[in-house]
Amino acid sequence: MKAFRSALVAGSMLLSGVLAQGAMAQSIQVEVFKGGFATVNSFIFSNGKSLIVMDVQRKTYEAKKLAELIKSKHLPLTHILISHGHTDHFTGMDWFHREFPQAQIVVASEAIRRDIKAYAIYMSQGGETGAEPALEPGLLPKSAANPNGFDYENWIHVLPGHTLTMVGGGTLELTTDYQPAESPHATTVYSKDLNALFLADFGYNKVHLWMGDDIDNRRIATWRAELVRIKSLYAARNPTVYPGHGDPTDMSLFDTTIRYIDDFVRITSAAKSRDEAMRKMEALYPDYQQADFFLKYSVENHVNAGAAK
Ligand SMILES: [Zn+2]
Repeated sequence: MKAFRSALVAGSMLLSGVLAQGAMAQSIQVEVFKGGFATVNSFIFSNGKSLIVMDVQRKTYEAKKLAELIKSKHLPLTHILISHGHTDHFTGMDWFHREFPQAQIVVASEAIRRDIKAYAIYMSQGGETGAEPALEPGLLPKSAANPNGFDYENWIHVLPGHTLTMVGGGTLELTTDYQPAESPHATTVYSKDLNALFLADFGYNKVHLWMGDDIDNRRIATWRAELVRIKSLYAARNPTVYPGHGDPTDMSLFDTTIRYIDDFVRITSAAKSRDEAMRKMEALYPDYQQADFFLKYSVENHVNAGAAK
């Protein structure tokens, strides 16, 4: 079914999931929901007793498909974890808030809650480049003038610590001490059960990286530095790596993403026009998705209009 192109990618837990039922009943499994818009991933964690979802899509119609998939599991959804403050990861919050009133929307830091609201406001004003579709109306902030708006301060909870414990057993380890990268603040998630690292938008797999908006060369440099650092932190564990965009893969994603960043910086800094930069990036990465969205607006952000043909 095309509507549900989610793949069961339970990593090494696929086998133990089958063996489970008894001794390993609390092992965490993960299912990837691949969004049709912006190639953005959501992740459904299950321990057989309860569910947590990480990131909830860019379009309400995608969030609705994700919600139906979650409901089909007939387990309580306890948390909606938003990894960082970009609309492709949080737009579905409004739908999830209505559909799963018992589930808490959570973030790993106050800074991420602030980022989410700030980005929603930015998008509601069209976004600097008009790069993205308008903010969905349900996410307009609650205010005196808009009393039915989304209440960012009261409906998004900041987790008190850096673990998220699943009802019924198992924990997700959250890390937020990163320099600004693809977003000003971001959360990665590590699951020991799965030996899996959920990179949010530090990593993209065969999808062009987003370098639009406020992502200047300095941010790109700190992003690259964090990739080097995260790679070294996890190298010994050799986890399955789940990027924010594109298919799950392995630790080689770090080198692939670093090489992409180096190519992008080299090409956009030398390009005489946006067209030239687009052509060169597409020639180097012919099988990458989102050329007409992520790459287009990243190039617009890094090659000035005066250089356009
Ligand atoms: Zn994203």
